[in-house]
Amino acid sequence: METTLKVKLISHTMNPELVIATAGKLCYSPSNIDDLMEKQTPESIEKFIKMITSMGHGSVLEHISFSFAIEGVSRSLTHQLVRHRIASYSQQSQRYVKEIQFEYVIPQDIKNNEVLLKAYEKNMEDTQNLYDEIVDKLIYDYINDKENYGEYLNIQLKKCNIDKDEFEAWKNENKSSDKFVNELRAAYKRLCSTLEKKAIENARYIFPNSCETKIICTMNLRSLINFCHHRCCRRAQEEINKLAWTMVEEVEKVSQLLSKTLGASCQFGPCPEGSMCCMMPYEKKI
Ligand SMILES: Cc1cc2nc3c(=O)[nH]c(=O)nc-3n(C[C@H](O)[C@H](O)[C@H](O)COP(=O)(O)OP(=O)(O)OC[C@H]3O[C@@H](n4cnc5c(N)ncnc54)[C@H](O)[C@@H]3O)c2cc1C
Repeated sequence: METTLKVKLISHTMNPELVIATAGKLCYSPSNIDDLMEKQTPESIEKFIKMITSMGHGSVLEHISFSFAIEGVSRSLTHQLVRHRIASYSQQSQRYVKEIQFEYVIPQDIKNNEVLLKAYEKNMEDTQNLYDEIVDKLIYDYINDKENYGEYLNIQLKKCNIDKDEFEAWKNENKSSDKFVNELRAAYKRLCSTLEKKAIENARYIFPNSCETKIICTMNLRSLINFCHHRCCRRAQEEINKLAWTMVEEVEKVSQLLSKTLGASCQFGPCPEGSMCCMMPYEKKI
């Protein structure tokens, strides 16, 4: 099933504008920090932030950070996102979380073509079916292929406090059943979940880049500005471009002033893309 982008700013530094202005002014003031904080007015803060960002003195922007909860994006997108190294990430694991019915992103150009869309969706359905098949077949192998997994199985039985002889007897009774793995799931839940973890970390290799994922990303403002310069740009891929602009909107909800520091490079100076320039610059923000 097609997924949809969901982005939420789940946390940010308290009083971000005041923190930036105080940190910046401290560098040049003989005052103590309490006095500096009290002296600030909304006008002086705005003036200072505009000045510091236009001068590119970014270190004071590092005092504040934003955490975004991002869902309904593809693994293709997160591969691009995590290239932004000055950030912290926590992503849902395909090794530990079984995909019961994986969701996926469909690029707009594929959606625009009925035939391609049908083939694309069929491929996703086939992939889920093959994934399920691989998981079940591997679990079966872990239990029955003594040559490759005998020692591994013995350790897992021990860990799960399962008597080996009792288990062998159960196995011989159920081996011919078509629903062998389902029977195992019902009878030996803990063992099955252990074996399943090993199976899904192998089965996940068949998933496409389009597979939906969830990630929490924290960036300080300096890094977020750099991220937006690159990814709000029309040259960025459609999906991450949409994410970047949605992140800007989320920041705007908590600070209109700071959101004005976020956008594509061309909004703050000349386009840095040279011959790759899209020739459709956004409206300037400064
Ligand atoms: C349109 C587009 C196309 C792209 N195409 C490709 C591609 O084809 N192949 C590809 O591999 N990538 C590609 N990228 C990714 C791109 O090269 C960057 O890796 C990504 O945008 C992260 O940028 P960054 O390094 O500035 O961010 P961060 O990693 O967050 O770094 C922020 C800043 O910190 C500084 N910094 C960080 N690490 C170091 C370091 N080790 N040494 C010195 N300074 C450092 C730099 O000033 C850097 O700008 C593409 C990006 C875009 C936007």
